[in-house]
Amino acid sequence: MVIRGSLRGRKNIDANYFPASFLSRPMARRCPECYAELPEDAVWVCPTCHYTLRTPPAAKAGIVFMVLGLALLGAFVYGPDRIGLTSGLVPTDLVNVTIANFPLLVLGTFGIGAFLAAAAALKIRSEQARVVAA
Ligand SMILES: [Zn+2]
Repeated sequence: MVIRGSLRGRKNIDANYFPASFLSRPMARRCPECYAELPEDAVWVCPTCHYTLRTPPAAKAGIVFMVLGLALLGAFVYGPDRIGLTSGLVPTDLVNVTIANFPLLVLGTFGIGAFLAAAAALKIRSEQARVVAA
């Protein structure tokens, strides 16, 4: 009887553990760097410390393309005819075109990646400039 009563009392304490102000604003976002509270429009950059909160999708795509470009460069250096392109799985015409345009392919893939990464960097930089100006 006495034990049961004390357990019930403990439960009430647990229920009231969180202050009301915390419960009413559960979605308050904070900067992971300086822990300042973030306003609604702070999506990319923290207005207090200018920490990059979110990486633009273009940056991730750019990195993927650059890695792909490096992989293609590696394949080109290794030799396109030695990585199984001429094994018969791919039509010979396609293989010949691919080998002929390999430097272009490498440059193009890497270029797209670099362009996307640069665009993402510019996006972040302009957001930082906007935050500083505000
Ligand atoms: Zn911050």
